[in-house]
Amino acid sequence: MPSEPPEPLVADHALEFPGGYTRSVGPVIGRFLTELRDGRLVGVRTASGGVLFPPAEYDADGEAVTDEYVEVGPGGTVTSWSWVSRPRAVHPLDRPFAWALIRPDGADTALLHALDMGTFEPGADPPKSLRTGMRVRPRFRAERTGSIRDIECFRPDVTMITAPSRAEYRLNAGRALTRFLDGVSEGRLLGHRCDVCGKVYVPMRGLCPVDGVPTTEEVEVAGTGTVTTFAVNNIPDPRAPQVPFVSAYILLDGSDISLLALVAGIPADRVRMGMRVKAAWKPREEWGRTMENIKWFEPTGEPDVPFDDIKEYL
Ligand SMILES: [Zn+2]
Repeated sequence: MPSEPPEPLVADHALEFPGGYTRSVGPVIGRFLTELRDGRLVGVRTASGGVLFPPAEYDADGEAVTDEYVEVGPGGTVTSWSWVSRPRAVHPLDRPFAWALIRPDGADTALLHALDMGTFEPGADPPKSLRTGMRVRPRFRAERTGSIRDIECFRPDVTMITAPSRAEYRLNAGRALTRFLDGVSEGRLLGHRCDVCGKVYVPMRGLCPVDGVPTTEEVEVAGTGTVTTFAVNNIPDPRAPQVPFVSAYILLDGSDISLLALVAGIPADRVRMGMRVKAAWKPREEWGRTMENIKWFEPTGEPDVPFDDIKEYL
Protein backbone atom coordinates (compact mmCIF):
# COMPACT_ATOMS: atom_id res chain seq x y z
CA MET A 1 0.00 0.00 0.00
CA PRO A 2 1.49 3.33 -1.07
CA SER A 3 2.44 5.59 1.75
CA GLU A 4 1.30 9.21 1.89
CA PRO A 5 3.85 11.61 0.44
CA PRO A 6 5.61 13.46 3.23
CA GLU A 7 4.27 16.89 4.03
CA PRO A 8 6.66 19.54 2.73
CA LEU A 9 8.39 21.39 5.50
CA VAL A 10 7.35 25.00 5.56
CA ALA A 11 8.62 27.74 7.83
CA ASP A 12 7.92 31.44 7.56
CA HIS A 13 10.89 33.74 7.88
CA ALA A 14 11.22 37.47 7.71
CA LEU A 15 14.64 38.89 7.22
CA GLU A 16 14.62 42.46 8.32
CA PHE A 17 17.13 44.95 9.59
CA PRO A 18 15.14 47.72 11.23
CA GLY A 19 17.28 50.79 11.28
CA GLY A 20 19.61 49.51 8.61
CA TYR A 21 22.02 46.71 8.08
CA THR A 22 25.58 47.73 8.73
CA ARG A 23 28.29 45.83 6.98
CA SER A 24 31.88 46.57 6.39
CA VAL A 25 32.68 47.43 2.80
CA GLY A 26 36.36 46.53 2.57
CA PRO A 27 39.18 48.85 1.61
CA VAL A 28 38.34 49.36 -2.06
CA ILE A 29 34.64 50.19 -1.80
CA GLY A 30 35.44 52.05 1.42
CA ARG A 31 37.84 54.32 -0.41
CA PHE A 32 35.28 54.89 -3.18
CA LEU A 33 32.53 55.86 -0.72
CA THR A 34 34.85 58.05 1.34
CA GLU A 35 35.92 59.98 -1.76
CA LEU A 36 32.29 60.19 -2.85
CA ARG A 37 31.42 61.80 0.49
CA ASP A 38 34.07 64.42 -0.30
CA GLY A 39 32.52 64.99 -3.73
CA ARG A 40 35.09 63.11 -5.78
CA LEU A 41 34.85 60.11 -8.10
CA VAL A 42 37.69 57.60 -7.84
CA GLY A 43 38.36 54.40 -9.69
CA VAL A 44 41.05 51.84 -9.14
CA ARG A 45 43.87 50.80 -11.46
CA THR A 46 43.56 47.20 -12.64
CA ALA A 47 46.51 44.85 -13.08
CA SER A 48 46.22 45.30 -16.85
CA GLY A 49 46.49 49.10 -16.53
CA GLY A 50 42.84 50.11 -16.99
CA VAL A 51 40.78 52.15 -14.56
CA LEU A 52 37.84 50.33 -13.02
CA PHE A 53 34.94 52.56 -11.96
CA PRO A 54 33.16 52.15 -9.68
CA PRO A 55 36.10 50.33 -8.13
CA ALA A 56 35.91 46.72 -6.96
CA GLU A 57 38.41 44.27 -5.53
CA TYR A 58 38.55 42.31 -8.77
CA ASP A 59 38.26 43.30 -12.40
CA ALA A 60 35.96 41.67 -14.96
CA ASP A 61 38.54 38.90 -15.55
CA GLY A 62 38.68 38.07 -11.84
CA GLU A 63 42.14 39.62 -11.54
CA ALA A 64 42.86 41.40 -8.24
CA VAL A 65 43.15 45.18 -8.70
CA THR A 66 46.20 47.23 -7.71
CA ASP A 67 46.18 49.66 -4.77
CA GLU A 68 46.43 52.71 -7.00
CA TYR A 69 43.34 54.94 -6.87
CA VAL A 70 42.67 57.29 -9.77
CA GLU A 71 40.40 60.30 -9.67
CA VAL A 72 38.05 60.24 -12.67
CA GLY A 73 35.43 62.60 -14.07
CA PRO A 74 33.47 64.34 -12.77
CA GLY A 75 32.46 64.89 -16.41
CA GLY A 76 31.53 61.77 -18.31
CA THR A 77 29.91 60.30 -21.38
CA VAL A 78 26.65 58.39 -21.71
CA THR A 79 27.40 54.97 -23.21
CA SER A 80 23.79 53.71 -23.21
CA TRP A 81 20.44 54.72 -21.74
CA SER A 82 16.87 53.70 -21.16
CA TRP A 83 14.06 56.24 -20.76
CA VAL A 84 11.63 56.00 -17.84
CA SER A 85 8.58 58.00 -18.90
CA ARG A 86 6.50 57.16 -15.81
CA PRO A 87 8.69 57.01 -12.71
CA ARG A 88 7.44 55.03 -9.76
CA ALA A 89 7.76 55.83 -6.08
CA VAL A 90 10.95 53.75 -5.75
CA HIS A 91 12.71 55.70 -8.48
CA PRO A 92 15.27 58.39 -7.61
CA LEU A 93 13.43 61.13 -9.53
CA ASP A 94 9.74 61.97 -9.55
CA ARG A 95 9.65 63.07 -13.19
CA PRO A 96 10.59 61.27 -16.43
CA PHE A 97 14.31 60.51 -16.50
CA ALA A 98 16.80 58.08 -18.02
CA TRP A 99 18.73 55.24 -16.52
CA ALA A 100 22.12 55.68 -18.09
CA LEU A 101 25.47 53.97 -18.17
CA ILE A 102 27.92 56.79 -17.63
CA ARG A 103 31.65 56.47 -18.15
CA PRO A 104 33.50 59.24 -16.32
CA ASP A 105 36.50 60.74 -18.14
CA GLY A 106 39.58 58.68 -17.36
CA ALA A 107 37.64 55.52 -16.49
CA ASP A 108 37.36 52.43 -18.67
CA THR A 109 34.05 51.26 -17.26
CA ALA A 110 30.69 52.87 -16.61
CA LEU A 111 28.36 53.46 -13.68
CA LEU A 112 24.60 52.99 -13.87
CA HIS A 113 22.83 56.07 -12.55
CA ALA A 114 19.80 58.30 -13.05
CA LEU A 115 20.13 61.06 -15.64
CA ASP A 116 17.91 64.08 -15.08
CA MET A 117 17.04 65.63 -18.46
CA GLY A 118 14.85 68.40 -17.03
CA THR A 119 11.12 68.80 -16.58
CA PHE A 120 8.79 66.59 -18.61
CA GLU A 121 5.13 65.62 -18.35
CA PRO A 122 4.55 62.03 -17.19
CA GLY A 123 4.57 59.72 -20.19
CA ALA A 124 6.69 62.09 -22.30
CA ASP A 125 8.92 60.71 -25.05
CA PRO A 126 12.68 60.91 -24.50
CA PRO A 127 14.07 64.28 -25.59
CA LYS A 128 16.14 64.37 -28.76
CA SER A 129 19.12 65.67 -26.81
CA LEU A 130 19.27 62.34 -24.92
CA ARG A 131 21.76 60.28 -26.87
CA THR A 132 24.71 58.01 -26.58
CA GLY A 133 27.87 60.11 -26.38
CA MET A 134 26.22 63.05 -24.63
CA ARG A 135 28.27 64.80 -21.95
CA VAL A 136 27.04 64.73 -18.37
CA ARG A 137 28.12 65.61 -14.83
CA PRO A 138 27.06 64.36 -11.42
CA ARG A 139 24.90 66.45 -9.12
CA PHE A 140 26.15 65.77 -5.61
CA ARG A 141 23.87 66.09 -2.62
CA ALA A 142 24.72 68.93 -0.26
CA GLU A 143 24.70 66.54 2.72
CA ARG A 144 26.79 63.49 1.91
CA THR A 145 27.17 60.37 3.98
CA GLY A 146 29.48 58.10 2.01
CA SER A 147 26.89 56.27 -0.06
CA ILE A 148 26.17 55.89 -3.78
CA ARG A 149 23.19 58.13 -3.11
CA ASP A 150 25.64 60.99 -2.48
CA ILE A 151 25.24 61.42 -6.22
CA GLU A 152 21.66 62.58 -6.58
CA CYS A 153 21.72 62.09 -10.33
CA PHE A 154 23.67 63.09 -13.41
CA ARG A 155 22.73 66.08 -15.56
CA PRO A 156 23.64 67.12 -19.12
CA ASP A 157 26.44 69.62 -19.53
CA VAL A 158 25.25 73.09 -20.33
CA THR A 159 25.72 73.46 -24.07
CA MET A 160 23.14 76.09 -24.91
CA ILE A 161 21.54 79.09 -23.33
CA THR A 162 18.40 80.92 -24.29
CA ALA A 163 18.98 84.64 -24.19
CA PRO A 164 16.74 87.46 -25.32
CA SER A 165 17.95 88.74 -28.64
CA ARG A 166 16.89 91.09 -31.36
CA ALA A 167 18.37 91.46 -34.79
CA GLU A 168 17.53 93.91 -37.51
CA TYR A 169 18.69 92.96 -40.94
CA ARG A 170 18.04 93.35 -44.60
CA LEU A 171 17.68 90.06 -46.40
CA ASN A 172 19.88 89.54 -49.40
CA ALA A 173 21.43 86.40 -50.75
CA GLY A 174 24.68 87.02 -48.88
CA ARG A 175 28.00 85.43 -49.66
CA ALA A 176 27.06 81.94 -48.52
CA LEU A 177 23.80 81.65 -50.44
CA THR A 178 25.36 83.30 -53.50
CA ARG A 179 28.07 80.65 -53.43
CA PHE A 180 25.42 77.95 -53.09
CA LEU A 181 23.54 79.26 -56.15
CA ASP A 182 26.83 79.45 -58.08
CA GLY A 183 27.14 75.73 -57.37
CA VAL A 184 23.58 75.03 -58.49
CA SER A 185 24.26 76.90 -61.73
CA GLU A 186 26.96 74.25 -62.38
CA GLY A 187 24.79 71.33 -61.29
CA ARG A 188 26.51 70.98 -57.89
CA LEU A 189 25.00 71.05 -54.39
CA LEU A 190 27.36 72.79 -51.98
CA GLY A 191 27.28 73.06 -48.22
CA HIS A 192 29.43 73.93 -45.26
CA ARG A 193 30.77 71.67 -42.56
CA CYS A 194 30.93 73.14 -39.03
CA ASP A 195 34.36 72.49 -37.59
CA VAL A 196 32.91 72.37 -34.06
CA CYS A 197 30.05 69.86 -34.37
CA GLY A 198 30.93 68.42 -37.79
CA LYS A 199 27.42 68.90 -39.14
CA VAL A 200 27.00 69.68 -42.82
CA TYR A 201 24.51 72.37 -43.84
CA VAL A 202 23.09 72.47 -47.35
CA PRO A 203 22.47 75.19 -48.40
CA MET A 204 25.10 76.78 -46.21
CA ARG A 205 24.34 79.93 -44.27
CA GLY A 206 27.88 80.73 -43.28
CA LEU A 207 27.03 79.99 -39.65
CA CYS A 208 26.36 76.91 -37.53
CA PRO A 209 22.98 77.43 -35.79
CA VAL A 210 23.99 74.96 -33.05
CA ASP A 211 27.40 76.39 -32.18
CA GLY A 212 26.99 79.96 -33.41
CA VAL A 213 30.38 79.87 -35.14
CA PRO A 214 31.15 80.90 -38.74
CA THR A 215 31.50 77.98 -41.16
CA THR A 216 33.83 78.05 -44.15
CA GLU A 217 34.74 74.46 -45.03
CA GLU A 218 32.97 73.76 -48.30
CA VAL A 219 31.66 70.29 -49.11
CA GLU A 220 29.75 68.99 -52.09
CA VAL A 221 26.92 66.57 -51.43
CA ALA A 222 25.10 64.14 -53.65
CA GLY A 223 21.87 64.89 -55.46
CA THR A 224 20.38 61.85 -53.73
CA GLY A 225 18.60 61.80 -50.41
CA THR A 226 15.79 60.51 -48.23
CA VAL A 227 12.31 61.92 -47.62
CA THR A 228 11.98 62.69 -43.90
CA THR A 229 8.50 64.25 -43.83
CA PHE A 230 6.12 65.40 -46.54
CA ALA A 231 2.78 67.04 -47.22
CA VAL A 232 0.27 66.38 -49.97
CA ASN A 233 -0.97 69.66 -51.46
CA ASN A 234 -4.26 70.06 -53.30
CA ILE A 235 -3.92 73.71 -54.25
CA PRO A 236 -2.24 74.28 -57.62
CA ASP A 237 1.26 75.77 -57.59
CA PRO A 238 3.00 77.04 -60.75
CA ARG A 239 6.15 75.09 -59.85
CA ALA A 240 4.33 71.78 -59.38
CA PRO A 241 3.60 69.49 -62.32
CA GLN A 242 0.06 68.62 -61.23
CA VAL A 243 -2.44 68.57 -58.36
CA PRO A 244 -2.19 66.94 -55.91
CA PHE A 245 1.54 67.38 -55.54
CA VAL A 246 3.92 66.58 -52.72
CA SER A 247 6.31 68.90 -50.95
CA ALA A 248 8.82 67.11 -48.78
CA TYR A 249 11.76 67.64 -46.49
CA ILE A 250 14.64 65.77 -48.07
CA LEU A 251 17.78 64.85 -46.21
CA LEU A 252 20.48 64.88 -48.88
CA ASP A 253 23.11 62.18 -48.45
CA GLY A 254 25.99 63.79 -46.57
CA SER A 255 23.90 66.67 -45.20
CA ASP A 256 22.60 67.06 -41.65
CA ILE A 257 19.62 69.29 -42.39
CA SER A 258 16.64 68.66 -44.61
CA LEU A 259 15.78 70.74 -47.63
CA LEU A 260 12.22 71.56 -48.68
CA ALA A 261 11.50 70.49 -52.26
CA LEU A 262 8.87 69.07 -54.57
CA VAL A 263 8.58 65.31 -55.06
CA ALA A 264 7.20 64.03 -58.36
CA GLY A 265 7.44 61.02 -60.63
CA ILE A 266 5.25 59.00 -58.28
CA PRO A 267 1.55 59.23 -57.34
CA ALA A 268 1.14 61.52 -54.32
CA ASP A 269 -0.44 58.76 -52.22
CA ARG A 270 2.62 56.54 -52.66
CA VAL A 271 5.16 59.00 -51.24
CA ARG A 272 6.37 57.85 -47.83
CA MET A 273 8.80 58.74 -45.07
CA GLY A 274 12.16 57.07 -45.71
CA MET A 275 11.65 56.98 -49.48
CA ARG A 276 14.90 57.40 -51.45
CA VAL A 277 14.88 60.19 -54.04
CA LYS A 278 17.22 61.96 -56.46
CA ALA A 279 17.27 65.42 -57.95
CA ALA A 280 15.68 65.72 -61.39
CA TRP A 281 17.59 68.52 -63.08
CA LYS A 282 16.16 70.56 -65.95
CA PRO A 283 18.02 70.33 -69.27
CA ARG A 284 21.40 72.00 -68.87
CA GLU A 285 20.66 74.77 -71.39
CA GLU A 286 17.85 76.00 -69.11
CA TRP A 287 20.06 76.33 -66.02
CA GLY A 288 20.43 79.65 -64.29
CA ARG A 289 21.60 80.79 -60.87
CA THR A 290 18.49 79.43 -59.23
CA MET A 291 17.25 76.44 -57.27
CA GLU A 292 14.67 75.98 -60.04
CA ASN A 293 17.43 74.16 -61.98
CA ILE A 294 16.12 71.20 -60.01
CA LYS A 295 12.57 70.50 -61.20
CA TRP A 296 11.80 68.22 -58.29
CA PHE A 297 13.04 65.06 -56.61
CA GLU A 298 11.91 61.67 -57.89
CA PRO A 299 12.18 58.11 -56.54
CA THR A 300 15.43 56.24 -57.09
CA GLY A 301 13.78 52.85 -56.57
CA GLU A 302 16.21 51.95 -53.75
CA PRO A 303 14.77 50.32 -50.59
CA ASP A 304 13.32 52.75 -48.04
CA VAL A 305 15.51 53.96 -45.19
CA PRO A 306 14.34 52.67 -41.76
CA PHE A 307 12.54 55.26 -39.63
CA ASP A 308 15.19 54.97 -36.89
CA ASP A 309 17.83 56.28 -39.29
CA ILE A 310 15.93 59.49 -40.07
CA LYS A 311 14.04 60.21 -36.84
CA GLU A 312 16.82 62.55 -35.61
CA TYR A 313 16.19 64.78 -38.61
CA LEU A 314 12.43 65.16 -38.40
ZN1 LIG B 1 28.34 73.31 -35.31
